[in-house]
Amino acid sequence: MARVAVVEDEELIRTMLRLNLEKQGYQVECFIQAEALLDRLAEVFFDIILLDIMLPGMSGEELVGHIRRRGINTPVLMVTAKSDIPTKVSTLDRGADDYLAKPFHMAELLARVQALIRRSQGERAVPSHQLIRVGPWEVNLETREADTRQGRMKLSEKECALLALFARNPRVTLSRADILDEVWGMDADPTPRTVDNFIVRLRKLFEANPEAPEHFVTVHAAGYRYDP
Ligand code: CA
Repeated sequence: MARVAVVEDEELIRTMLRLNLEKQGYQVECFIQAEALLDRLAEVFFDIILLDIMLPGMSGEELVGHIRRRGINTPVLMVTAKSDIPTKVSTLDRGADDYLAKPFHMAELLARVQALIRRSQGERAVPSHQLIRVGPWEVNLETREADTRQGRMKLSEKECALLALFARNPRVTLSRADILDEVWGMDADPTPRTVDNFIVRLRKLFEANPEAPEHFVTVHAAGYRYDP
């Protein structure tokens, strides 16, 4: 189920957006202030952010800037009454993906939300894109640089190979033998225990609670499954 964040200070619009998005099967979280979403983004991955420009406190424009500077690529759809051209250009400059002026037709908004989510999921599925998201964290497979719970760091080649394998096979149970074969191949004799050790390491880096993993899940007597 795709997760949608709505940042909107007008209660009526917020409620209307929530109801309509939930009717489409989205999981919706609403925020009145930009700052609240920024905090939440440290914990949760959203598939799309719907953002008003005129907000109490930090503006929607500023928020987009902050989000992109943190390296978060989640699509942002600006939904706003401020339909003048300069604002539109400056928000898109700061990294918003699309723009919809109020008053809008709900059907159009839902169509754009769907298109933006599909587009970004398509990008994520392409291995050559080289970016993997684990919850709120991002890993660049090319440079092996990763944002993790323990800060920014460079992962090993094998850690990246394992992440890439999981990313290519989301929600598929992979046996230890499959993983050894794909990641270690002909390399020096690893044991199934090697895989377990790497999983422990990935959990420490990317799981909110490594004891109760949500992304690198143990499938009893079968292996491991990756839930992005
Ligand atoms: Ca507003």
